[in-house]
Amino acid sequence: MGKVLIIGAGGVANVVVHKCCQNPEVFEEICIASRTKSKCDGMKALLDGGKTKITTAQIDADDTEALIKLIKAYQPDMVINVALPYQDLTIMDACLATGVHYLDTANYEPLDIPKFEYKWQWAYREKFEKAGLTAILGSGFDPGVTGVFSAYAMKHYFDEIHTIDILDANAGDHGYPFATNFNPEINIREITAKGRYWEQGEWVETEPLEIKRVYNFPQIGDKDMYLLYHEELESLAQNIKGLKKIRFFMTFSEKYITHLNVLENVGMTSIKPIMYEGMEIQPLQFLKAVLPDPASLGPRTKGKTNIGCIFTGIKDGQPKTYYVYNVCDHEACFAEVGSQAISYTTGVPAMIGAKLLLEGKWKKPGVYNVEEMDPDPFMEELNKQDLPWVEDFNPTLVD
Ligand code: NDP
Repeated sequence: MGKVLIIGAGGVANVVVHKCCQNPEVFEEICIASRTKSKCDGMKALLDGGKTKITTAQIDADDTEALIKLIKAYQPDMVINVALPYQDLTIMDACLATGVHYLDTANYEPLDIPKFEYKWQWAYREKFEKAGLTAILGSGFDPGVTGVFSAYAMKHYFDEIHTIDILDANAGDHGYPFATNFNPEINIREITAKGRYWEQGEWVETEPLEIKRVYNFPQIGDKDMYLLYHEELESLAQNIKGLKKIRFFMTFSEKYITHLNVLENVGMTSIKPIMYEGMEIQPLQFLKAVLPDPASLGPRTKGKTNIGCIFTGIKDGQPKTYYVYNVCDHEACFAEVGSQAISYTTGVPAMIGAKLLLEGKWKKPGVYNVEEMDPDPFMEELNKQDLPWVEDFNPTLVD
C-alpha cells in the first residue's frame, strides 16, 4: 500500500521500524534515514529479508534542502519524523515542498527556549490544507494515545468532560543510579521547567515539581507522582470543548529526584552555553553525553509502565467518571523489538497513526493533533498492535 520515509534512528525509531515490518501489507517499503547512517544500517541488517523492503540513507534533518533532495529521490507517501523536536519545522517544510504527508511524536522546540508549544506547527495549517496534505502532530503515547483516549471518552461516554488527569507511571528499574528513559536532553528540559496546568480557561504555573501526589496505579502499586507541564495539555484544552481543568502527572522515584536536584544545583542541566577550554558547550548536552544512552537501557530494565487518563464529567445529566489506561511490560517489549517500554509505547502509536493515514482513515488536509481524528480505528489498532487498554468506571480520583 505505501512507502514511508522514517527519519531518526534512536529508541523510538527502532520500534517504529519493527512495527512497520510487522504490518507489511501497509508498509511495503521503508527508508530509515538519520544523522548516523550506521544506526539505520544496523536496523536494516536485523530486519532485512521480510516482506517490507528496507533501504537506508544519511540525512541532516536540520537541512531543508538536503531533505527535499532525499524525499524527491525516494518518493515516499509520507514521512514519520522520530528524530528530535528541533527538526519538526525543517521536515514539515520539506514535506510541503515535495507533496508528502507528515507525522511526528513531539512538538517543535527551538534549541534555545524549552517552551513545548504548538504555535509554530499550528501556523502550518493553511499551507498543508492548500497543498491537500495531512500533518498529524504528536502521535506517540503522551502526546498521542492520551489524546485518542480523550476523543474516545468524548465520543462514547460523555456529553461533557469537565476534568482530565493524565497519569504517566514508570515503575521500570534499570539498575543505574540515574538515567533517563528517553533522550536525556528532552527529558530533563521537560522536568526542570516550571509546572503548569489549565483551569477555567487560565494557565496556573507552579514551581518545578512543586505539586506531588501518591497514586495507587493498577498493576504497579503506590507511586509518587509530580505535576508537570506536558504538551498535550495545550491542544486538549482547546479541542475538548467544555473542559474546565486538565493536569498531567508523571512518577519519579526519590532517588531520581535527588540526582536531578544535585545536577541542577551544580548547573549541569542548564541549556545556556558556557565556555570550556576555549570551546562553547551546553551543560545539558554534555550531561547527555556522559549519561547512559537510553537505547542501552532495554536489556536491563524490568517492571511496567502504566499511562492513562481519568475523566470526570456528565452523561445524560448524571455525573460520570472514566479511567482508561495501558500497562506495558519493559521486558516483554525488549523481547519483542529490542527496546524498553518508553520507546515501545511511543513507537507503536507512531506506526498506527501512519498506518491510518496511509489507509485513508486519518487523511484530511491540514495540520491536526490526534484528538481531532476519529479515535475508533486507532483504539482498535492499539489492541491489535500490542498496546491493549483497560477501562475502569469507578477509579480513585486525584485530589
Ligand atoms: P533518540 O535520541 O534515541 O533518537 C533521536 C534520533 O534522531 C537519533 O538517531 C539521532 O541521530 C537523530 N537525529 C537527531 N538530530 C538529527 C538531525 N539533525 N538529522 C537527522 N537525524 C537526527 O530519541 P528517541 O528515539 O527517544 O525519541 C525520538 C522522538 O520521540 C523525540 O522527538 C522525542 O521527544 C519523542 N518522544 C515522544 C514521546 C511521546 O510519547 N509522544 C515519548 C518519548 C519520546 P544520532 O543517532 O546521530 O544521534
